Amino acid sequence: MKIDLHSHTKRSDGELSPEELINRAHNQGVDVLAITDHDTVQAIAEAQQIIDDKQYNIQLISGVEISTSWDGCEIHIVGLNVDHECPQFLQRLNQQLETRLDRAQRIAKKLAIKGMENTYDGAAELATSDCISRAHFARHLMLEGHVQTMDEAFKKFLARRKSCYVAPGWITVEQAIDWIHDAGGQAVLAHPTRYDLSNKWVRKLIAYFAEQGGDAIEVALSRQSPNERIQLQSYADNHQLLSSIGSDFHRVSRFAELGKNLTLPSAAKPVWQDWALMANANHGTN
Ligand code: AMP
Ligand code: MN
Ligand code: MN
Ligand code: MN
Repeated sequence: MKIDLHSHTKRSDGELSPEELINRAHNQGVDVLAITDHDTVQAIAEAQQIIDDKQYNIQLISGVEISTSWDGCEIHIVGLNVDHECPQFLQRLNQQLETRLDRAQRIAKKLAIKGMENTYDGAAELATSDCISRAHFARHLMLEGHVQTMDEAFKKFLARRKSCYVAPGWITVEQAIDWIHDAGGQAVLAHPTRYDLSNKWVRKLIAYFAEQGGDAIEVALSRQSPNERIQLQSYADNHQLLSSIGSDFHRVSRFAELGKNLTLPSAAKPVWQDWALMANANHGTN
């Protein structure tokens, strides 16, 4: 079984359309795929339609990645198996999208002071949904030649403590967990080691997440050392949390591929342990 529970489409800051992402998952032999766009579930229905039309053997998990603030840090909480048609959930996510629009306008003002004009329109043009992201600004700045790479845009202007950073008004970790639970899903702490936090603070974050009722943490990520995976599994065990896996695929690159190299340590309790998985696969377990 090839399982990948963290991926993005153009409906947030990914670069493939839902159709292109599903085709890629099919070509990579992915059996179970969660689409987890930032603060939106807009891609889910469209992706399911493609799977049905093409009769692919892919089980689509309705997911989301919610932005939160924790002690001044931006922390991402993935929701898996959320009801993507639940009116209350959609209304709540819209609140986050409004926060994104407001932040985008303030980022553009700061960039204008630095001599980069009209970046709001540029970023908004790259966004194909209501989710406008710093990644759209980074891409726009790259396309306009202000920077060579998206990474440079973050390092120079957009990352925390840089000149054009705007502290966002995200919800709390606790609220995100509640929203996900209210929508019938499981709450997963995304990529715990990718927040620029010391090990001590990563452990504090995981303890806090568990205390607030979180269900799982991502243990198997792309571009990860074997040691890090074992370390994250031990954190999950310490707090009786389930384990998840995800490539966090955004675009075709050498850094991440759908469903690739995402095996959990053998003692892990997978987040999908109680799911009804489609018994389709001729693939062996990986
Ligand atoms: P936002 O959710 O709007 O705050 O934007 C954050 C997104 O930008 C993340 O989900 C990443 O996909 C992307 N991102 C963050 N740092 C970098 C970086 N250094 N280079 C390229 N993309 C990045
Ligand atoms: Mn992203
Ligand atoms: Mn993330
Ligand atoms: Mn992500």
